[in-house]
Amino acid sequence: MAGRRETGEGRRDEAALRLPSSVYRLPSGRVAVLALQGDFAAHGERLRELGLAPFEVRKPDELNRAAGLVLPGGESTTIWKFFESEPWENAIAGFVASGRPVLATCAGAIVLAREVSNPVQKGLGLIDIAVERNAYGRQADSFLDDVEAPALGGRLPAVFIRAPRIRRVGSGVAVLARWKGEPVLVQQGAVVAATFHPELTRDERVHRLAFAGLFGARKTA
Ligand code: GLN
Repeated sequence: MAGRRETGEGRRDEAALRLPSSVYRLPSGRVAVLALQGDFAAHGERLRELGLAPFEVRKPDELNRAAGLVLPGGESTTIWKFFESEPWENAIAGFVASGRPVLATCAGAIVLAREVSNPVQKGLGLIDIAVERNAYGRQADSFLDDVEAPALGGRLPAVFIRAPRIRRVGSGVAVLARWKGEPVLVQQGAVVAATFHPELTRDERVHRLAFAGLFGARKTA
């Protein structure tokens, strides 16, 4: 019995040794969730459901051990206050430059944008979009509706909370979803930005899309 088990495990180990080296970087399967402010906990739950082993980060150097990053919604002005007290700008720019995937939602998208208005504020310029903050006016400043997301297989339920509007999309940016014709989900390289809150619905397609590259390695391992 013991002998049989040993033989079986031996074969599995040999198979594992032939796997490509990328598969061994499994801490690489973990996704960091910026946890300075905002609704980071809900992102953590969605990622956990997808098996993406989230962990909360509160210091810039914690990004070193992340394979992916979520910049959650909240208040972009407050997030910026935190950013000014530690070298977050360099850490996030370095993260994006490394090609690791990033999902930025609402305030997270505002922080990453190239241009921010209403009022004008700094943007990291890590996705080539111009956003206008709190741009749906009083009546509709928070609402739930379906958005058109042909790239994700059709309609997608979306929660908008004092959301920004994307006023310009650079030529290198793909529009993945629209609401009433306006872009609400965009992608540039490994950066995906949503003006809504995909973490507040049970529809997991946006998280899956943003971190698609991390699934293969986890499955193989
Ligand atoms: N209104 C917020 C801002 O301008 C964003 C709101 C959100 O993240 N839900 O930063």
